[in-house]
Amino acid sequence: MENLVCDSCRSVFDYSGPAYKYAQYVIDNLPCEKVCDCEALRTTQFSPEPIACEENIVSCTCLPQHWDAAAQKLTHMAAENAFTQGLSVTRMKFAQGGMESVMKSCKGFTNKPKKNESPLGVATFTAGSARAIKLISGERGYFVFDTARAKSVAHGDVIATKYFGDFANLPTVDRLHRTILQTALTICMTHVRH
Ligand SMILES: [Zn+2]
Repeated sequence: MENLVCDSCRSVFDYSGPAYKYAQYVIDNLPCEKVCDCEALRTTQFSPEPIACEENIVSCTCLPQHWDAAAQKLTHMAAENAFTQGLSVTRMKFAQGGMESVMKSCKGFTNKPKKNESPLGVATFTAGSARAIKLISGERGYFVFDTARAKSVAHGDVIATKYFGDFANLPTVDRLHRTILQTALTICMTHVRH
């Protein structure tokens, strides 16, 4: 298989623990940052190719937490999953059925019985815009990995580089940094409502 990460990196992306710890697990366990540049490689055999910076990627948005009704724009919560379960995205280049199909599956996903969420729309951004976001220290704020699955070859994940987990449990300074990072990613998003 060409362009594939090594077996130990691949096993990290095969994570099967609690979903909300996925992002931190990936960052803590990627064993060979120096050997495999995982963003520039396929992380699963199902991936058609690594995610290029110019690719358009799309995440699902839902009510009430992703929408500021007064300001008529996305809230920073639209980027929240990057710090917990990974912000799932669909690569438009490989999305079967195009945007119509992606929006339909977002609706279906959000309507699954859970929490008190309802479908809002989809947020489009480029992989490169997420990859370009930096912490105040100059370090990367997010990685964008291809995380293709057998039934979803267009699947990717935006994963933060720090400030993981339950927001309420973070020190105040970390909360501030995380909110800035989330806001920066949200600003990159073009939103389309259902
Ligand atoms: Zn590796």
